[in-house]
Amino acid sequence: MASNLPQRVDVAVIGGGIIGISTAWALAKAGVRAAVFEKGVVAGEQSSRNWGWIRTVGRDPKELPLALRAIDLWREIQARRDVGYRQTGLAYLAETEQDMAAHRAWMDKARPSGVSAELIGRDGLPALLGCATTRAWAGALYSGIDGVAEPDRATRAIADLAIQAGCQVVENVAVRCLDTKAGKAAGVVTEQGVVGADAVVLAGGAWSRLFCGNAGVPFPQLKVHASVLRTTALETGLDMAINGKDFTVRKRADGGYSVSQLGASVADLTPDSIRLCRQFFAAWMSEKKYLKLRVGKRFFDELTMPTRFGPDAPTPFERHRMLDPAPRMKTIGTALDKLKQAFPAFAPAQIAHAWAGFIDVTPDAIPVISPVDDIPGFFLASGFSGHGFGIGPAAGALMADLVQGRTPIVDPRAYRLSRYAGR
Ligand SMILES: Cc1cc2nc3c(=O)[nH]c(=O)nc-3n(C[C@H](O)[C@H](O)[C@H](O)COP(=O)(O)OP(=O)(O)OC[C@H]3O[C@@H](n4cnc5c(N)ncnc54)[C@H](O)[C@@H]3O)c2cc1C
Repeated sequence: MASNLPQRVDVAVIGGGIIGISTAWALAKAGVRAAVFEKGVVAGEQSSRNWGWIRTVGRDPKELPLALRAIDLWREIQARRDVGYRQTGLAYLAETEQDMAAHRAWMDKARPSGVSAELIGRDGLPALLGCATTRAWAGALYSGIDGVAEPDRATRAIADLAIQAGCQVVENVAVRCLDTKAGKAAGVVTEQGVVGADAVVLAGGAWSRLFCGNAGVPFPQLKVHASVLRTTALETGLDMAINGKDFTVRKRADGGYSVSQLGASVADLTPDSIRLCRQFFAAWMSEKKYLKLRVGKRFFDELTMPTRFGPDAPTPFERHRMLDPAPRMKTIGTALDKLKQAFPAFAPAQIAHAWAGFIDVTPDAIPVISPVDDIPGFFLASGFSGHGFGIGPAAGALMADLVQGRTPIVDPRAYRLSRYAGR
């Protein structure tokens, strides 16, 4: 047993992304002894690589209760650590009246949740944007309570808060598999020894399906490759985050902008995409405008990756400490060009850095935040489908409530794992 490993905790959390860390923070605040085990470094995967949007607009209404609760938690985090959280406002720009009709339809579905989004007509846009545009936008769906935080420091800062509240965060220690006794979760088997626990939360991001599969728990989840770039610092007058359909942009604390595009996502053909094609078919059809299918090396990489492993030998979690895929420069370069055409103030912007990440997606693009019914004491918080940074703190608080059997902060039924088994 490595010296920095606890022998026993109340709750073992697998994965040091924003979901695992926020779960651990919420548990520690409630006086629960929690430890997080991260195979690489805190926020090494999706949680540091995202756009940094904290939004209600455009969300599936099932996620809105979490998105609204998350805003209070982001305020609390920012009051204690500077994570760059700002309610800048966020706008989905509309090019056509058809886009405006789609935004109106979303407003109708979202209103019962209490969101405060509004439709802005073309005349109201110049004052809202604060930056001259050459495109004849039809209007926008806008929310003033939406905003941004800095992914390169947010999760680490929440980890600091969790540690301060009594949680242990162990980096560079992979969890090989679940330890069970009499069919119940009894702890985790790490690469450095066993840690006993009354409950285990898996928040493994893109790795959760592999981990679950080894434990005999089916979890339909695929990975989508997404690229982002950061510009050099520049003054444009644009402060709010924008989705302009062929580009997205948000101002960063370092004075530059993060730029991407919904269409910068690529779904590689893998053995899992074949296995799960029936479950994902509807999702692929609805996203086909934005998602490019690619056949290549990842098929063979995943084909040769073991799907069953025991406690005594290295697993794929140790072999892949951090997913760090290469960005698709052509797609994000195009997004920057479109942004420059639409907003000439961006003309001097240079690419300072580009990166990519693997987004973990579920068939209905709604996360699982749920007990695993077949293994008492085992919980899953994963499949955030490209939306987990903004709602992360609330998702963690919900997971912590479920683990403790407390009244949950929001109704958890929409996030049940059993929905994929038709239960
Ligand atoms: C390019 C991009 C843009 C995005 N933009 C936004 C956005 O603007 N707003 C938004 O809300 N969301 C956005 N997202 C999505 C958001 O980043 C994710 O939903 C969120 O970070 C998921 O957090 P997580 O903790 O579940 O996963 P991750 O951050 O991926 O963390 C999972 C962690 O688990 C660890 N792990 C896995 N298995 C094991 C194991 N066996 N043992 C130990 N450790 C393990 C991994 O190493 C990893 O660090 C974006 C994502 C990407 C990639």
